[in-house]
Amino acid sequence: MAQFAVIGLGSFGATVATQLVSLKHDVIGIDINKKYVENIAEEITHAVIADATDEHVLQELNIQNCDAVVVAIGEDIEASILCVLHLKNMGLEKIYVKAKSKAHHMILTHLQVSKIIHPEEDMGVRIAQSLSYPMVSRYMALEDDHFIVKVEVTEALNGTRYHEFIGHAPEVKTLLHKRGSEIQLSLDPQLIMQQGDILVLEGQLDQLKRLSKHFK
Ligand code: ATP
Repeated sequence: MAQFAVIGLGSFGATVATQLVSLKHDVIGIDINKKYVENIAEEITHAVIADATDEHVLQELNIQNCDAVVVAIGEDIEASILCVLHLKNMGLEKIYVKAKSKAHHMILTHLQVSKIIHPEEDMGVRIAQSLSYPMVSRYMALEDDHFIVKVEVTEALNGTRYHEFIGHAPEVKTLLHKRGSEIQLSLDPQLIMQQGDILVLEGQLDQLKRLSKHFK
C-alpha cells in the first residue's frame, strides 16, 4: 500500500483520489473549497480543507512522506505552480501535475515535474482515435508514432490466414492472440483468424495504419 496526496478535488482530482483508494492505497485529499472536501470525505483516507499554496500547511500535513503527489488545481495556474514549487522544496520526487494551458505546461516542464497531464486533450485524442479506428479497443503510445494496440478481428478478416494478414506490414510484432479464454504468445503463421479474435500488436503508426485497412 502506497501513500498518495491529491491536491485539488475537482472532478479530475476526485476521480484520481477515489480510484487510488479503490486500489487500496492511502490517500489524503486537499482542497481550499469546503464543499469539494465534504463531497469526498467519506470516500478517501483523509480529506482536508487547506490552501496548498502555503508550504507550512503542506508540511503540517506531512505531504513530504507521500510516495507521490498529484496536483489537480486547474484554473488557478499561479496556485498550481506555487504548490509544485513547495513540493519540490520539500524534496518530493514524484509529482504529477494537471496542466491547463501551454504556458502552464512550459513552466511545469522547467520545474521538471514527473508527469504533466492534459486530461481533456488526452481524452479528445482517444475519442478521435477510436472513431477513426473502431477496431482498436485499447492503445498505448510508446513514442509519438510507435504504439501498442489491442484490436478485434472483424468480419472482413474472418477466415484469413495470420501470415497473409501480417504480411501487409511485416515489421509489426504480434504480442499475443486471444480466442475466448485461450491466449497464444507465439502465433502459427497458418492460423486461420476468426471474427472476435483479439490481437495485441506493436509497431510504427504507418505500419499499423497499413494493417487497419484490412479490418474494413
Ligand atoms: P476539474 O476539471 O478537475 O473539475 P478544473 O480543471 O476546472 O477542475 P479547478 O476547478 O479550477 O480546476 O480546480 C480544481 C480544484 O482545485 C478546485 O476544487 C479548487 O477548489 C482547488 N483549488 C484551487 N486552488 C487551490 C489551492 N490553493 N489549494 C487547494 N485547492 C485549490
